[in-house]
Parts: sequence; C-alpha cells; structure tokens
Amino acid sequence: MPDNSPLPEFTRWPTFPFTGHLVVRPVDDPVDVEPPRQGEDRTTCIACQAGDDAYIWVSDRWRVRALDRPTGLPMVLILESRSHLDLGDLPNLLAAELGVMTVRLERAIRSLEGVARVHVNRWGDGSAHLHLWFLARPYGRLQLRGTFLSLWDDILPAIPEDRWRENLAMVAAWLAEFGGRANAEPPRIDWQAPSRFEDDAALRLDGLVRQFGGEADNVGDGPA
Ligand SMILES: [Zn+2]
Repeated sequence: MPDNSPLPEFTRWPTFPFTGHLVVRPVDDPVDVEPPRQGEDRTTCIACQAGDDAYIWVSDRWRVRALDRPTGLPMVLILESRSHLDLGDLPNLLAAELGVMTVRLERAIRSLEGVARVHVNRWGDGSAHLHLWFLARPYGRLQLRGTFLSLWDDILPAIPEDRWRENLAMVAAWLAEFGGRANAEPPRIDWQAPSRFEDDAALRLDGLVRQFGGEADNVGDGPA
C-alpha cells in the first residue's frame, strides 16, 4: 500500500480521538500460522490460575472482574466463563446463560449514575479463555459514542478511585441479587469521630485567637 493512501472516512468522524497529520500504517503480510494466544494451553491460562478473590463477583459458572485500577470510563468490566472454553465451544447451557449474564451485567452497569450506554465487545484475539468486555459510556459524552470508546478509555483522565470502588461494589451487589457472591466492597468512609471535630475546632479557634492577638490560654479550658 502506498504511503499516501487516502485516510478512511472514520478519521473525519467527530468521535475519532485524533487530529493532525495521520498516515496509514503499512499493512503487514499475512502469516501462514498464527502464534498461540495467551492460555491456549490451559495449564498457563491466566484466568484459570486466578482465584475468586481476583473477581468482583463469582458464581458456579461465571466470574466478573475489573481492571486493576480506575480508567477514563465510569466502568470497564470483563465477564468470563469459569470453565476454560471459548465462545464457540460453549455448550447450550452456558450459551444460554451467557445471554442472561450479558443482559444482567449490562443492566447493572447502566444503572450506575452517569452511565448512558454499555458497549459489549468480544474480541478474543489476546486470550483464549472466553472473556467479554463491558465498557460504560458516560452520559452526555456524545463524542465517545460508537467504535472508539475503548480508545477514549485510555485517553481520558482516570475517574477517582473512590467512585470506581463504589461503582464496582454496586455492580457486584446487583449481580449477587440473582445469585453468586459479591467480592467488591464499597470504599471506606473517611469519617472523623466527634471528639476529633471538637479538637479541630479548638485548634482553629486557638489559631484565630493567636492571629488576632487574643488570649489563647483562655480558650477551651473553662474557668481556671
Ligand atoms: Zn482458562
């Protein structure tokens, strides 16, 4: 393909994340034999080695995991079969359950505040073990609609960790309503005991008194 090959139409879509001078990458020759995907050999499969505590929700036949940190979208989750199977290998029972799980997880993520749409993707080029991606598009972010949402996830600043953990806990609790076990906990509340508030107030008052020349020794100790 020549270097000056015309850019495809999608580079002019308002949802395309990049501007400026773009050049189409040269297309590699096809290989005769593709390399194995991660976990093609079950004994090295990362999903099969992972314990249930690596997942936000687990059941007898399905597990849901999050990424290891918050990213740009309000929620990114991965649905996996517990068995070492790929999409085309699923027996009818699991195939039917995959439909139910897909709808259930979509609803759970869409119920989060600020989520407009949930994109469901199965690529399957990286790992052999069945895994479906669920990516939440933030409400109002029309620029993120469609094909490029997974790219925007890496481009946008990560959402706050507390909000991410709260969202994970809500989705896990939603799923657990129908069975299985939720592993995700809501974030710890950074609360202060009432006595601490009083201490803080006394310190602030003490500081004010010193700043404005009063007699700090008379503050907070009562009659001497
Ligand atoms: Zn596996």
